[in-house]
Amino acid sequence: MIDPSVLELLPPNLSALARLAGNLWWSWNEGGESLFRDLAPHLWRDCQHNPLEILRRVAPDRFSQLTVDPSYVGRLEQLSQSFDAYMQQAPGQHASIRASGAPSRPATWGHLHLPEEAAEHPVAYFCAEFGLHESLRLYSGGLGSLAGDHLKTASDHGLPLVAVGLLYRNGYFSQRLGTDGWQREVYDDADFDALPLELVRDAGGSPLLVEVPIRGRAVRIQIWRADVGRVRLFLLDCDVEGNEAIDRWITAHLYGGDAATRMVQEIVLGIGGIRALRALRITPSGYHMNEGHSAFLVLELIRERLLRGASLDDACAWVRERAVFTTHTPVPAGNDVFETSMIRDCLQGYLDDFNGQSDTIFGLGRRPPGDEFEPFGMTPLAIRMAHSSNAVSERHREVCARMWSPLWPERSVEESPFRGITNGVHIPTWIAPLMRRLYAEHLGADWLERVDDPDLWAQIDRVPDAELWRIHSLLRARLVAGARDGAEQQWRRAGESDQLVRAARSILDPNVLTIGFARRIAGYKRWDLLLADMDRALSLLNHPERPIQFVFAGKAHPRDNEGKRVLQQILAWRERPEILKRAIFLEGYDHFLGRKLVQGVDIWLNLPLPPLEASGTSGMKAIVNGGLNVSVLDGWWAEAWDGHNGNGWAIGEPWDPASPRAINPTRDRDPADVRAVFDLLEHQIAPLFYDRDRAGIPHGWVAHMKASIRTLTAAFSASRMVKEYARLYWPGTSLPSR
Ligand SMILES: *Cc1c(COP(=O)(O)O)cnc(C)c1O
Repeated sequence: MIDPSVLELLPPNLSALARLAGNLWWSWNEGGESLFRDLAPHLWRDCQHNPLEILRRVAPDRFSQLTVDPSYVGRLEQLSQSFDAYMQQAPGQHASIRASGAPSRPATWGHLHLPEEAAEHPVAYFCAEFGLHESLRLYSGGLGSLAGDHLKTASDHGLPLVAVGLLYRNGYFSQRLGTDGWQREVYDDADFDALPLELVRDAGGSPLLVEVPIRGRAVRIQIWRADVGRVRLFLLDCDVEGNEAIDRWITAHLYGGDAATRMVQEIVLGIGGIRALRALRITPSGYHMNEGHSAFLVLELIRERLLRGASLDDACAWVRERAVFTTHTPVPAGNDVFETSMIRDCLQGYLDDFNGQSDTIFGLGRRPPGDEFEPFGMTPLAIRMAHSSNAVSERHREVCARMWSPLWPERSVEESPFRGITNGVHIPTWIAPLMRRLYAEHLGADWLERVDDPDLWAQIDRVPDAELWRIHSLLRARLVAGARDGAEQQWRRAGESDQLVRAARSILDPNVLTIGFARRIAGYKRWDLLLADMDRALSLLNHPERPIQFVFAGKAHPRDNEGKRVLQQILAWRERPEILKRAIFLEGYDHFLGRKLVQGVDIWLNLPLPPLEASGTSGMKAIVNGGLNVSVLDGWWAEAWDGHNGNGWAIGEPWDPASPRAINPTRDRDPADVRAVFDLLEHQIAPLFYDRDRAGIPHGWVAHMKASIRTLTAAFSASRMVKEYARLYWPGTSLPSR
């Protein structure tokens, strides 16, 4: 929300800054970030890149300077005009778009392919986390980033979507690495008034409240709205006066609590989310449960039908026609189960509305419904109640068909109804501004409208090798500069020695082959493989002609001491001068650091234990920036790698579905995978990178960059993904097949 005192200070010709700051659209459109950054570059960093915060803190003199700066005022005018034109194309505005004759932008995909009425009944997209921007800390990692990218893409394509999530006061933790190398977690209180959020109010101006039943109490929830381009995201907040102290904490932390806390959060998200939509008078045509966290919403939808006199069978059928479910991980910790007794205690009175049929309801959450010893699983509930359930890659589909086969005892694994909709990334969010301009110059000014069209990328050879290499090298140099800044700051804050803080200025080399490895420090991501053969690692890092260097980032779950120990070993490298210049671990992996990494690396490395990486998306973010993937054949990479045609490299053996340990793998393959990574780096990757012509251009390497861009960008874009979901959301319409 914009601070009224800021509005008073803003000169009239800069007032559009406040309007732009209120919608996250600025964050993925060209010129948005620079406009806010140029207000005061250092302050911009201190404000965590939060426009409302910088507007509040920038010195008033600065506004006086800028108000007479024609270049700044011109940029602002241009951006605010694009924003207005974008917003005028909200779904359902078919008539006004036609009437405007020659609209400044072409009609959206939604306008072209969906009936106008679709806008009146949007699809409601539920998720426990949304990663939209580093300033809005409502995400932990991949699931949130994917959900954030989904909303932005739906907005760009004019799909009628509203989203529902939770507003966490403390969010996910900030990572602090001490001089002892141990990760500590810091939880900052968010100031909702300094974020682009509007508290939703009723006609009388009071906060609009809904209630959910928790342990016999009616817990009140207030609703905040965040605007993501044309998509509205409604965030539920239990920190409301009148609630008992303990209930005000329900929405404090993302993934921080025990099973009981999670269950209560999920009741708020699912049941509270449906009630919020009703209070907002939004009647969705469908409900997308993005991961099982929101699956309690089906209970509320069933209950509504029962209260209107439907039978339980009819109520379930009604829900099934409207619900879509996406599962995001085969790892057990990501598939919540709750003891039935715990749910009963928590939802006491609520379950009375199910007319004595609550046992049937509990059966919906078990693989065999009659097995009373099995706890209540959110994933089985969601699968049973959705007309379509999907995994997030082809490989993950095969895994899900096996994992969840008890839900279809009459079907073979091959006949499983699970679909695969492979994840994709929102290209405008992840692309470097310099690359954006390069494509505009060589592929056409409208290239962003066609990112999911393989024909566009077939023309990548129009970009001269020398140009692509020059821009990419510049981005690598910026990553190195940013890593030095980051290291200096984090070491100074931690109280490291002056010697180490000074050394930060000379770590890494802007001309050395740079490998990014950033991901959660979870067991199956196999960070420990990096430590498995230190002698060989050292010889590659310090190779006299063909050195390599690493940039690392990632968070361990607060209770994962095993992960923290691995992290501590990696951090110990800063004490070894022969490693320090070639490897750096950067604190606080978030969207900002993620962008810098995927934009600047030559190689994006991924070492998951198959088949536990459902999809992975970080490697997709590197593609459009010219980064090359080197990964185990799991998740998205199993369908992306083109064999030996040059769009990247594969590590180790493919997954064997016939193996007895196919879905409960052990780590037998570790030694072979470690050898494979080092062999690739030493014998293929480094030699190709350092093979230059007289002008210093590695044409063989650039050919790989182009093969990767050509074959992967369209397929792993969120545009392709969201259009696939649209076909599930609006099954009756004749959406084109691509
Ligand atoms: C994209 C992204 C992820 C997802 O990473 P994967 O390891 O590929 O699943 C996680 N964290 C952040 C900050 C990201 O930007």
